[in-house]
Amino acid sequence: MLDVQHLNAFYGPAQALFDVSLQVAPGELVVLQGLNGAGKSTLLKSLMGLEVRTEGRIQYQIDAQAKPGAIERWDTARRARAGLGYVAEDRRLFTDLTVRENLRIAAGRDAAALEVRALDLFPALKAMLGRRAAQMSGGEQQMLAIARTLMTAPKILLLDEPCEGIAPVLVESIRDALLKLKQEGLGLLVAEQNQLLASRADRLVLLVAGKVRGS
Ligand code: ATP
Repeated sequence: MLDVQHLNAFYGPAQALFDVSLQVAPGELVVLQGLNGAGKSTLLKSLMGLEVRTEGRIQYQIDAQAKPGAIERWDTARRARAGLGYVAEDRRLFTDLTVRENLRIAAGRDAAALEVRALDLFPALKAMLGRRAAQMSGGEQQMLAIARTLMTAPKILLLDEPCEGIAPVLVESIRDALLKLKQEGLGLLVAEQNQLLASRADRLVLLVAGKVRGS
């Protein structure tokens, strides 16, 4: 469970998020919507402790047995180790490395089992394990970026516009993979305008000029 309370975010003196509160429960797909510049990317970065200064409370409970703890002072690596997985809008793949190398480079414990699971979710990648990421389409790269993040065995996935600019057939594959992960109990917070995904959300959260509309 991720519980964000009264979050403000700043780039230098400029405030980009205002009093944002939201929750993502295990097995829940929350889709974050809003115009360009509304603050969707900033919210995901804030949750990962990247690039932006924040005020407010971010509580994270790794599973039902664990006690919720405040993570807003943790650095990015610690948040990732605790189970927050993030795929940036620009995907940040190693484009000179192959699919398999991109997966292995992210792997911690249980790498073999995690790789099987990631490739089962994205069967299209199985046929191109030896291909360099630079030679893949945008949609294939997006699948690889998500698969790579799955190699860290996240409990919560934060995805920034995974379907943007991607062929509809690959959007369907990505949507189906995300729905499977949700069934497995992952919590998903996805910034996304594409209706193929948004229509399957448990909850839509609309950001307008850095504020959650309706709160
Ligand atoms: P998009 O869909 O265009 O990515 P978004 O909803 O993700 O939009 P953000 O990228 O989070 O919006 O931007 C929110 C606000 O923060 C905007 O006013 C933007 O100009 C500002 N902003 C984003 N990144 C930076 C940065 N690195 N430095 C300064 N201001 C920034």
